[in-house]
Amino acid sequence: MDNVAHIPSYLSAEHLGPWETYLVQIDRVEPHLAADLRPLAPILTRPKRALIVDVPIRLDNGEMAHFEGYRVQHNLARGPGKGGIRYHPDVTLAEVMALSAWMTVKNAVVNVPFGGAKGGVRVEPKTLSLAELERLTRRYASEINIFLGQDKDIPAPDINTNEQVMAWIMDTFSMNEGKTAMGVVTGKPVSLGGSLGRKDATGRGVFVTTVEAAQRIGMSIAGARVAVQGFGNVGEAAARLFADAGAKVVALQDSTGSIHNPGGLDVRAAKVWSLAHHTLIGAPDSEPIDNADFWGVDADILVAAAMENQITTANAGRIRARLITEGANGPTSPEADLILQERGITVIPDVLANAGGVTVSYFEWVQDISAFFWTEEEINARLDRIMREAFAAVWDAARAKGIALRTAAFVLGCERVLAAHQMRGLYP
Ligand code: NAP
Repeated sequence: MDNVAHIPSYLSAEHLGPWETYLVQIDRVEPHLAADLRPLAPILTRPKRALIVDVPIRLDNGEMAHFEGYRVQHNLARGPGKGGIRYHPDVTLAEVMALSAWMTVKNAVVNVPFGGAKGGVRVEPKTLSLAELERLTRRYASEINIFLGQDKDIPAPDINTNEQVMAWIMDTFSMNEGKTAMGVVTGKPVSLGGSLGRKDATGRGVFVTTVEAAQRIGMSIAGARVAVQGFGNVGEAAARLFADAGAKVVALQDSTGSIHNPGGLDVRAAKVWSLAHHTLIGAPDSEPIDNADFWGVDADILVAAAMENQITTANAGRIRARLITEGANGPTSPEADLILQERGITVIPDVLANAGGVTVSYFEWVQDISAFFWTEEEINARLDRIMREAFAAVWDAARAKGIALRTAAFVLGCERVLAAHQMRGLYP
């Protein structure tokens, strides 16, 4: 069992930022690393390089606005940087650093040949017109151009970015290069070299890893009650797949509020409602509930698929689910993690649970480079196999060492990254 003493005393555990959360996680993992790799662990506590860019754009009313953007390459030991781009008003350098570091670990856990990177722009995209969003995206892509390339750093969607944004990035990079460069970004539209199955891939990975965990703790998915926080790319796909497998999705939450139906919500109808009304509130056959009550909903499975730091000491004691799957990156604070462990709740950590997206991004990159495209059946079968194998490796290691799944996943991922460093040696 991990111990609360692993949180450095100079940090108030309730106010850990995402980068500090990541450092605490590395702190907890270090004692479990192979003895010959342990001295290399400090490499993981620093990003390799980080870029801060000004993104000035002309607004539709003729005025100029400035936004701050970032691209961080945390580690490139195992391959080019890979990780999404986030548009959100809370984006900071520290957050992007943490997200890039989690990508390093995640890519190694599912053993795709990428390092970890991440990008973001501090902006509320809902306040921009489509034309302003395109100008923001193209200027940001140009500013981080020096980092990008199919063999250097390959972005993908994250919060508030989608296949249209990826298409603009691909086009901007291609214009600057004077050639069509499909492999520079993943999560593109299928008409532009995107991969079948990519849209649902993260939610599918969430679903597959949850099925694997449920089997091992003696829980049946059919009839299981599921609560999902976040109803975007990850949360909606996961909720739909659970419903299709016979589970009851009893609660959903987006940034505007939470809805509940103990008999089961109609996920597809909720999606149609949310697209039309930009909120889940009012979706067919649902009752609104307080966001605080969402965490205490009677459910067997809880999927956290929104933002960082959502499961904290404020709500970890009230969660009734036996199984939590982290669709989001960093949704559980280090202190809450210990509370969940003590309560015997199984947590499938982000670096494993949400790795389905980057796995199919890897497939997309391979398809673009080889200019040969696979069927959706092939993609889903390969994704399911990779997710199941990664889950089994993490589960078995956790059992063998008597550690939490998160620690086991980090040990697996970090050892792969550090082994690459060990073999490459220190330049010069
Ligand atoms: P998304 O499509 O933008 O959806 C985010 C969802 O979370 C939306 O429903 C949003 O509500 C909701 N949300 C935002 N802030 C919230 C809050 N404070 N409380 C409750 N709900 C909130 O983003 P996404 O791509 O699904 O990403 C979700 C998480 O998964 C992120 O942590 C991301 O890093 C992680 N992830 C994504 C991928 C991927 O392939 N997309 C892969 C791995 C990990 P509104 O609709 O009302 O804004």
